[in-house]
Amino acid sequence: MIDLHTHTTASDGRLAPDALARAAWEAGVRTLAITDHDTTAALAPARQAMAAWGIRLIEGIEITAVESERDVHVLGYFITPNAPGLARFLARARAGRIERVRAIAERLEQLGRPIDLPRLLKDALVEPGRSIGRPAVADALVRAGHVASRQQAFDEWLVPGRPAFVPRTGPSVAEVIATIHEAGGLASLAHPGLTKRDDAIAQWAEAGLDALEAYHSEHSPEDTDRYLARARELGLLVTGGSDFHGEDQARGRPTEYRRRIGAVTLPPADLERLEAAALARRG
Ligand code: AMP
Ligand code: FE
Ligand code: FE
Ligand code: ZN
Repeated sequence: MIDLHTHTTASDGRLAPDALARAAWEAGVRTLAITDHDTTAALAPARQAMAAWGIRLIEGIEITAVESERDVHVLGYFITPNAPGLARFLARARAGRIERVRAIAERLEQLGRPIDLPRLLKDALVEPGRSIGRPAVADALVRAGHVASRQQAFDEWLVPGRPAFVPRTGPSVAEVIATIHEAGGLASLAHPGLTKRDDAIAQWAEAGLDALEAYHSEHSPEDTDRYLARARELGLLVTGGSDFHGEDQARGRPTEYRRRIGAVTLPPADLERLEAAALARRG
């Protein structure tokens, strides 16, 4: 099985690379991409962990772009993790994340729901390259006893329309695509069925987007068919993955299990096409 969308503790996943390798192996995944939010910090340790299990690692990233005040996630594959342009770009993104988390914590304080911000920031700062965001705030809300689960924290406080939501600024999709290309990678639009910007896909294809993530844990069969057709129409490649973040054990129950590792698999022929395109791009 091929799973090209997973997260680790370098961003908002619950498993470190070695635990992720084991989970992947047990699920039958033999080719895995790690695609942490705005960081490549897990890739070097993952390389060793995956090799120990005989799993092929594809170097990935999931970068947050902002378009019309809404987040658009763009996946990068076959990137050179330490490419200087990419590294600078991601460092800026992570600094912006820290500022946003501070602003959310301030808002929560005013709302009478204080969280342990120093601990959150320490987590983000002790491990170089660690990327924090709303899931870390959600976990802090759980630890403070304000909510019972990460999901409840999002639903009641952290999403647009809720009192502790703080809007973000960020790069455009075109800028993200260019940065991924400069680092030798291919850019794929993550979970278009959740992003709901079908109107912009043609324009992003013009800007150099290489692929659509047609296969995703939270896509319905109709979503998958629609994006497969759209990719064919626009001459784009296809990617797919579970978007595994680990399981939310807050209530002793795996509430994020719908995104279990290996829940979806990319057909091998699509991976071969991606590899050929990545090779061609690198010349
Ligand atoms: P951030 O990058 O700080 O905006 O956090 C975005 C991450 O939070 C996403 O990648 C998801 O892992 C998670 N997330 C976003 N929206 C929700 C939601 N409504 N419920 C649960 N998790 C969410
Ligand atoms: Fe996430
Ligand atoms: Fe995403
Ligand atoms: Zn993801």
